[in-house]
Amino acid sequence: MEPAVYADYAATAPLRESARQAMMPWLEREFGNPSAADTYSRAPRRAVLEARERIAGLLGARPDEIFFTSGGTEADNWAVKGRAWACFRGRPGHVVTSAIEHPAVLEPCAFLERFGWNVTRLCPDREGRISPEALRSALRPDTALVSVMAANNEIGTVQEITALANVAKEAGAAFHTDAVQAVGHIPLRVNDTAVGLLSASAHKFGGPKGIGFLYVRHGLALEALHHGGGQERGMRSGTENVAGIVGMAAALSESIGEMAQEQVRLESLRSRLIGRLREKGMDFVINGSERHLPGLVSVSFAGQDGRTLVYLLDRKGIAVAAGSACHSQEITVSHVLRAICVPDKYIKGTVRITLGRESTEADADRIAEEIAGLVR
Ligand SMILES: *Cc1c(COP(=O)(O)O)cnc(C)c1O
Repeated sequence: MEPAVYADYAATAPLRESARQAMMPWLEREFGNPSAADTYSRAPRRAVLEARERIAGLLGARPDEIFFTSGGTEADNWAVKGRAWACFRGRPGHVVTSAIEHPAVLEPCAFLERFGWNVTRLCPDREGRISPEALRSALRPDTALVSVMAANNEIGTVQEITALANVAKEAGAAFHTDAVQAVGHIPLRVNDTAVGLLSASAHKFGGPKGIGFLYVRHGLALEALHHGGGQERGMRSGTENVAGIVGMAAALSESIGEMAQEQVRLESLRSRLIGRLREKGMDFVINGSERHLPGLVSVSFAGQDGRTLVYLLDRKGIAVAAGSACHSQEITVSHVLRAICVPDKYIKGTVRITLGRESTEADADRIAEEIAGLVR
């Protein structure tokens, strides 16, 4: 059996050695509670403070604009619900989002609808792009939030976040971006934009699972999601995940440090993989846009079943993802692929391949080879 190939980086990335090492003291000896008053609290408090400064610096934010959460899902839920609560004036308001968001944004929006809120879901074009003009015409005086992801996790399309945030700003609406797939992978500096809220998750850039953050622009009104002991300046109660926070800062620092190089390398691996697939003479389409995440390939094969391909590839030691989910016998094609109108002939045969820092040219060749063997 040939060595295993991991090509599902959009699901999660392996922990970076730098992050693991940075975390060790906080898992082993330094167990103090950063919010306590005793001697044991000092080192962890300092570590959390330094991690916050480091992360803020890497994103062009202020340290007091970074709030640690349990990951991307919590940060997204907090942005959506926290804005709705902060803007509630005795009657429900309005939220604008896109039809291709992650469930961590779509579900909180649907939750708000149960309480009478109005939600506009903007449709993307065939490449998955949300147009600033469409956003402009969707805005209302009572729009509490606009939430559009920075980069899509299924097809890799990168949005014009700066333009979209400007449109929201002109109308006086707060702008949130789920940047979980973007942070650590493509350049992003919040102070260069009108972004008010930004979600990130450590395990998508080589940090540990169960830790992330929400950037909240200074002065933006946001209600807390967790109420309790008052940690994170009263905005996010709960004892700090010290090891996670420190590991996330180390991983972010390393991924941003090698980003320029990795972008070029992954882009070339991506082209190589697509080229190899083409050489095999298979009938497929590549989903997404010119502006995309460097290591993500969403490919739809005519007349195939994506889930079967994923299962068979997994048996051969190759880990990738499908473009559909299975809910009790019924096959549901992903909302993202539907929204970008992938033709019927191809839509069910979608596979998402995501390459990352440990991926090699041999991996790309092997993936193409095995897929060709199965599709034939
Ligand atoms: C993974 C992911 C999330 C969820 O992040 P978790 O830290 O796993 O909760 C949210 N949004 C996008 C775009 C993602 O890819």
